[in-house]
Amino acid sequence: MEKIEQLFTFIDSTAGSVQEAKNVSYLEGVLAALNGWLDGENVPEGEWERNDIRKGIQLSLLKGMRESAQVNHQMTPDSLGLLVGYLVEQFFEEQLTKKEIITMLDPAVGTGNLLLTVMNLIGDQVTGAGIELDDLLIQLAAASADLQQQPVALYHQNALMPLLIDPVDAVVCDVPVGYYPDEEYANANYTIHAEEGMTYAHHLFIEKSINQLRDGGYAFFLVPSMIFESEQARQLFTYIKTNTWIQAVIQLPSTLFKKEQMAKSIFVVQKKSATEKPVKDVLLAKVPSLSNPQALEQFFARVRQWKKDEEK
Ligand code: SAM
Repeated sequence: MEKIEQLFTFIDSTAGSVQEAKNVSYLEGVLAALNGWLDGENVPEGEWERNDIRKGIQLSLLKGMRESAQVNHQMTPDSLGLLVGYLVEQFFEEQLTKKEIITMLDPAVGTGNLLLTVMNLIGDQVTGAGIELDDLLIQLAAASADLQQQPVALYHQNALMPLLIDPVDAVVCDVPVGYYPDEEYANANYTIHAEEGMTYAHHLFIEKSINQLRDGGYAFFLVPSMIFESEQARQLFTYIKTNTWIQAVIQLPSTLFKKEQMAKSIFVVQKKSATEKPVKDVLLAKVPSLSNPQALEQFFARVRQWKKDEEK
């Protein structure tokens, strides 16, 4: 049996037993299994690499989320996390080569899978922070980060309210999509607010994330591909143009999503700074099917070439 399957079987059987004995959800059972492992009460045999741990946990979370009726119980899969991680590596190549530490925030951290996929890809050069509203998801993220020995500070709060987090070098975020119900708060505190009615939460998340970046920092968003086609797109675009330099818009294959209307793109911006310059050309690209390694390599080569041309 593969290591990841072995780990999944371990978590799954513990989670199943807890679920039955305590009459709780499967995801709560997964949390109990992870905490039991952390406390040393019930530890899987063998040596575990941090990415095997992440993948084993990911499989059990996927099973739990299929059973869960909660709409916010969504996880960013490996495939998307690795693409975001690849871009982070490209944009921070200089700092990473100099062995500098990058600070990274995910303001909608969920289970932590996206943040930890990116952190594990980079190695030991990221200090992470995550914010999440959901009580169970943030506990899962905390246990998962501890087991993977990644330094992540987690905040259980509404990310759109004031935060006590210093400006970061990078934001990664699979933004929650929908309307933000607190219309009064959004109108009083955000530049991007709808002229009438509720503002899109995904727009507010973008503004908040940009606010949390240091000057010259980068944000890597997973956003609905149709984001610039809505009736609130004008306010969003004006805000982005005023405060950032757009770097890249990368369309993801629609086969990765349940419905074509749910397709997402990776949107990369840099917060304006007095010491840096905008890019000459925004990278506009389409990720090919992930099952075609040759086409995928061509895509990565195109990103590298774009970056080289920008550095000239
Ligand atoms: N990247 C995450 C992962 O890998 O598990 C999944 C992110 S999911 C698409 C969006 C997350 O945002 C959900 O976990 C949801 O609970 C959270 N969320 C929604 N509104 C929020 C808010 N106002 N403040 C903090 N978290 C919020």
